Amino acid sequence: MEMPGLAGGRYGPAELRPLVETVLAALEDGATARGGPLPGGGPKETARRVAGALGRPLRPEGTGAHEALHTLVREMARGAADPADPYCAAHLHCPPLAVAAAAELAAASLNPSLDSWDQAPAATEIETRTAAGLAALVYPDLPAPDALMTTGGTESNQLALLLARERAAGGPRVQVVCGGNAHHSVQRAAWLLGLPRPIVVDTPAGVLDPAAVDAALDELPGRALLVATAGTTDTGTIDPLPQLAQTAARHGAELHVDAAYGGPLLFSRHESGKLDGLQSAVSVTLDLHKLGWQPVAAGLLAVPDGAALRPLGHQADYLNAADDTDAGLPDLLGRSLRTTRRPDVLKIAITLRALGREGMGALVDAVCGHARQLAAAVERHPALELYGRPSISTVLFRPAGADDEQVAELRRGLMYEGRAVLGRATATGRLWLKATLLNPHIRPQDLDALLRLVADARTRQSDGTP
Ligand SMILES: *Cc1c(COP(=O)(O)O)cnc(C)c1O
Repeated sequence: MEMPGLAGGRYGPAELRPLVETVLAALEDGATARGGPLPGGGPKETARRVAGALGRPLRPEGTGAHEALHTLVREMARGAADPADPYCAAHLHCPPLAVAAAAELAAASLNPSLDSWDQAPAATEIETRTAAGLAALVYPDLPAPDALMTTGGTESNQLALLLARERAAGGPRVQVVCGGNAHHSVQRAAWLLGLPRPIVVDTPAGVLDPAAVDAALDELPGRALLVATAGTTDTGTIDPLPQLAQTAARHGAELHVDAAYGGPLLFSRHESGKLDGLQSAVSVTLDLHKLGWQPVAAGLLAVPDGAALRPLGHQADYLNAADDTDAGLPDLLGRSLRTTRRPDVLKIAITLRALGREGMGALVDAVCGHARQLAAAVERHPALELYGRPSISTVLFRPAGADDEQVAELRRGLMYEGRAVLGRATATGRLWLKATLLNPHIRPQDLDALLRLVADARTRQSDGTP
């Protein structure tokens, strides 16, 4: 067999061009064959189909690049839950922009690794500058904010807790206080880092109540890190950041804001006011693979001053020997806990440049507008009940008169039939269907049709007809 071609170098693009054509054709074929937001038939049917296409994962002889790409890319697309479909709206799972996906091809072909300058000369600089630029979006009034690139909100929250732990080193252990509405990764991070189990303040109204936080902090003798959420995963609501910042300050506690979902509201002139108070945080989690239309992974942890990242400093002679650093080679190991690290920043830098703040803001405005439209349509609908006005782009609703079990069943039914992918969330003690709208191309008629799908499914459910 001929030696397979490489993606990089002078001749890489010539190798890639026909392969990319094959990939694009397979994506088209797969999407057409699927014909909806996800494959019908549920997990068993998908497993059967994939097993057939995949065959033995490691065969004695290969099938060649074009066959392998066509077969498996087509199958993956055929069996995808595709967030570019207007009826795929379950999770904070965004349809990536074409420009960002194209950038990924370059990132993969050049394959820089951001653990040392000699593996990523230009990528290092693109990352440093882009991260600082995004940190300045969070902390516009500060001279030297910085941000780390992460794999997402989970890693960002973990790093935030780690930095808090290290700031408290030598004194009493830091006690995390968060809302019942906080992301599960906060609990896991505390567990991983050997911190005391977080104190969870109940959030019956969906957001942290500053008075309840005040009471919780009153009881704590030592150091506390208050974790607030700007855009909860379940309902998209935003904790009252200015009041929480004041409450934390009064108690000498620090504030970390998990803005994995809501952070990109900062791009929009109309929506950014919802994040007032963010600047008081000692760290802010952001995800651009949610409201930023990036392919996974595209997470950030922003801090008010780059010096806050010093505890992550680390030395390994083969990557950042002291004399290399003294001689002026950038020292990158302290910008992550990972070693080999993808240039996830490239797609972000390209997207920001292509769209500008205006363009990013327009996308944010579009999805927030869709959420308001959908909520209004639910309110008008005689057979549907609305949870509440959306804060960002999440709308919770349920068929009037259904019990929780029926709501859960209805969701699975739409999914197994391949008609719609909606999420689920428990709020005010009841189960709701969740539409997380992240597709800026969705049209008003799509929203109406989505509600029709739910209402019709409910009618069939009540009638007992299939
Ligand atoms: C999604 C989310 C996370 C986790 O982010 P990942 O990118 O999935 O790791 C954390 N916090 C909130 C509020 C989120 O919505």
